[in-house]
Amino acid sequence: MDTSKRLHELSKLPQAPATRIVGAGRRSEWTGPVVNPPVWRASTHLYADTAALAQGPRTNEDGRFFYGRRGAPTQWALADALTAIEPGAAGTVLYPSGLAAIAGVMLTLLRPGDIVLISDNAYDPTRATGTGLLTDFGIEPRFFDPLDIAAYERLFCKRTRAVLLEAPGSLSMEMCDLPELARIAREKGAVSVLDNTWAGPLGFPALERGIDITLMALTKHVGGHSDVMMGSASAGPELYAKLRQRAQQLGTVVSPDDAALTLRGLRTLHLRLRHEADSALAIARWLNERPEVAQVLCPMLPGAPGHDIWSRDFSGGCGLFSFTFKGGTAAARNRFVDALTLFGIGYSWGGFESLVVPIDPSACRSRMAWPPHPHEAGDSHGVRLAIGLEDAGDLIADLEQALAAWREG
Ligand SMILES: *Cc1c(COP(=O)(O)O)cnc(C)c1O
Repeated sequence: MDTSKRLHELSKLPQAPATRIVGAGRRSEWTGPVVNPPVWRASTHLYADTAALAQGPRTNEDGRFFYGRRGAPTQWALADALTAIEPGAAGTVLYPSGLAAIAGVMLTLLRPGDIVLISDNAYDPTRATGTGLLTDFGIEPRFFDPLDIAAYERLFCKRTRAVLLEAPGSLSMEMCDLPELARIAREKGAVSVLDNTWAGPLGFPALERGIDITLMALTKHVGGHSDVMMGSASAGPELYAKLRQRAQQLGTVVSPDDAALTLRGLRTLHLRLRHEADSALAIARWLNERPEVAQVLCPMLPGAPGHDIWSRDFSGGCGLFSFTFKGGTAAARNRFVDALTLFGIGYSWGGFESLVVPIDPSACRSRMAWPPHPHEAGDSHGVRLAIGLEDAGDLIADLEQALAAWREG
């Protein structure tokens, strides 16, 4: 048996996630004798003869050559690897960005006249896709507070076809009871969808916990190096077949170069997540003791809001969390951000480098309060930190000198 076939055979044994990540998607027919699949740049796939050509449209299956829009081995290897690390998944569809994954999933599940319930603390562009794209197609988005389960349950009616969840909440980091919200959706006949970009399948195996479709912005941790944009959606057999068909109808396809970069990122995902989460927890603990800080919004931190649910349901986290200042002004908060030297100012997260952005979630909420938990008036100026792979002690020293700049105001 050749080496990569042996790897593929071995990958059928029960394995820890780290082992599975190393072997996932490495099929000998796609890699040949080398470790990684080559970058197959292909629009045209050639056929041996007209009989083979005539077979093409009848075999619309994963892993079959047909035409560039259905991908080639580089994209197949990535999709296959993501499926292998998502317990309960029958397949994974790749999209050109995380937001394209959200739109692609919504356009698969929803028809004119349907209602979709969207978590009020979802990523802001997700809200915009709900109120813009979906509304234009006669679909009604209704926002709900995922912490108020009784009110959520009352929102369902015959037209409710899907629920879009995200945990922790974007910017404000609330943790909701995902298994219970998914269970209620299923009982009411709606499909539950989770934007699982924060924890991913290593920290929260969503399909195993009752979610119907799990999606990720691969742009963040899976890519991991701030140089590629991509999204994914994984599901069991029936929903996967529907997602795949809709993606083909929409014509969404990812480039093989981007797929190769994303696959390279995936191989070290577990190491980066563990390092980031450890550093983030150390930094969150340090911030929690600072007199300038009102609230540390980090579910991994014991005693922080949502920690009980996080420790019950999640086996991991990442470097992304927020905090609010005790009083002060927006100008002081911005002075803090500008004073940081090791944190880049920019959107996104999940790369190897630390980032910071000032936040004001009240601009993108219609049901939930900001700041999210009992607080003193005026403690509403916040920042979100994305902790990267730098030394945690160096990051703390940088935060300390920036807090001094905050106090000077
Ligand atoms: C960034 C992000 C997205 C969108 O991903 P893109 O690849 O930037 O389109 C979706 N959901 C969450 C939670 C994100 O952080």
